[in-house]
Order: sequence, then C-alpha cells, then structure tokens
Amino acid sequence: FLSGKRALVTGSTSGIGLAIARAMAAEGAELVLSGFGEAAEITELCEELGAIHVAADLLTVDGCEKLMAQAGPVDILVNNAGMQHVAPVDEFPTDKWNMIIALNLTAAFHTSRLAIPHMKKTGWGRIINTASAHSKTASPFKSAYNASKHGIDGFTKTIALELAQTGVTANCISPGYVWTSLIEGQIPDTMAARGLSRDEVINDVLLAKQPTKKFVQPTEVGALAVFLCREEAGNVTGANWSIDGGWTAQ
Ligand code: NAD
Repeated sequence: FLSGKRALVTGSTSGIGLAIARAMAAEGAELVLSGFGEAAEITELCEELGAIHVAADLLTVDGCEKLMAQAGPVDILVNNAGMQHVAPVDEFPTDKWNMIIALNLTAAFHTSRLAIPHMKKTGWGRIINTASAHSKTASPFKSAYNASKHGIDGFTKTIALELAQTGVTANCISPGYVWTSLIEGQIPDTMAARGLSRDEVINDVLLAKQPTKKFVQPTEVGALAVFLCREEAGNVTGANWSIDGGWTAQ
C-alpha cells in the first residue's frame, strides 16, 4: 500500500531503522537509507531493498541538509538515528552530551523542517520519530539520552499540532529494550557505572524494566511504523506509542 511513496529512514544501516526500512519496502515504498557501515554491506542492502543510500553525518546542520538534498522530496520521514552514552551526570563528557542532543533531537528538527514543505504541498505525509521508553520515564546515568528523548516527544507533539490540518501526521514510537548494537555498546559502561557483570546488566538492569522479560524485536517496531503510514492512521497524530513489554505501564 506504500507504492509511489518515498520513505527516508535515518540510521537505517542497522538495528531498528533497518527493520523499519525493510517493513516499508515490503509494502512497496521507495527507500532512502542513511547511516554508517561497511560499503559492501550497504551496497547489498540497497540491492535487497531497491533503495538508495545517502552517507551524511547528522551531527551537523550541513550533514542534515546534505541528506535532505540528496534524498529528494520524501512522503515518509523516519527520524531514527540515535546514540547513547552511560555515565554519572557529574562525570558526563560534555562532547558526548552535545553529540547525543545533536543526533537524537536536533537532527530531527532539521530533517523535518526540510521535509515538511513537500508533504504540505501534496497533502499527505508521515513523520515518525523513534523516541524511547526514556521519552516517558528515566533511568540513572543516561542524562543526555533521556533529555533528548523527552525533547523529541515535545517536538513531535508540536509539529503534529502545526500540521494537524495538512494531511501530515507526526508521531513517536517508543521502544523498550530492543537487542541492537546500541544496547550491546552500552553494556560495558553500565557494568562500570553500576559495578555489575554482563549477565547482571542484561537480566537485572535491562530486562528488569520489561515485565514481559523479553527484548522487543526490531521487526515489531517496523510493523508499528508501517501501521502509522496507513490511511486508517490518519487521525493518529501527536501520539507517543509505547512498544516496551509493559515497562512504562508500571
Ligand atoms: P543502532 O546502533 O543499531 O543504529 C543506529 C543507526 O544510526 C545506525 O544506522 C548508525 O549508522 C546511525 N548513526 C549513528 N550515528 C550517526 C550519525 N552521526 N549520523 C547519521 N547516522 C548515524 O541502534 P538502534 O538500537 O537501532 O537505535 C535506533 C534508534 O532507536 C535510536 O534513536 C535509539 O535511541 C532508539 N531506541 C533504541 C532502543 C534499543 O533498545 N535498541 C530502545 C529505544 C529506542
């Protein structure tokens, strides 16, 4: 049902973004991939999905503008690229703070402001932001991440209201823990910050939050993103959909 629609998914060379791209391609969307990775793997992904890839560093305004210029007009924008750093706030590296806010929050402002004029013109558009359970609740040692994710929730609600009568919706998807390289990467720092073993971090810190005791699957997030693109989801806007195994119900 997405044939004829062009979708840009940021951070789609791995993890959740890749699953969202695959789910949208399966519905016939024309995909623009973004993110970093091995050249050979990216070429293979482009062939698999019939997609193009734009290499751009979304930490900078120039990078965001380059991405949007090379992607061309898009009907679906998924702001998904994100990063994490785990450290106590009084030891939090200031450059990491700036990078996390730039990628997880500010990049979505730049891509959205550049994507919206085309969506308004055609009278149809979908902006989907990968937020997090940490857009609704906090965990210690993730000050920048939690601030960026609470921020993207506020940004999404704002643009949903501004676009309410244009046929363009804007929503957040908020996963709990999904097993991806982002989670893998924070295990050593969490072990250090809390003085725990790897297994203790997985079972007593990560899965302790999720009543289902299961990691969310990237494909489940992809399916929710596809639903938000349906005509039936035209009245879903300004929402922040949890997909977190019950975490934020507690
Ligand atoms: P991931 O590390 O597998 O993917 C991150 C993607 O972002 C990759 O494609 C990477 O190349 C890209 N990226 C990183 N830095 C970039 C930069 N400077 N410019 C452009 N692209 C860049 O991580 P993931 O877990 O799939 O995370 C995707 C999103 O989901 C993030 O916003 C993350 O905060 C959010 N999220 C993840 C989880 C989880 O448990 N994994 C839970 C909630 C929310």
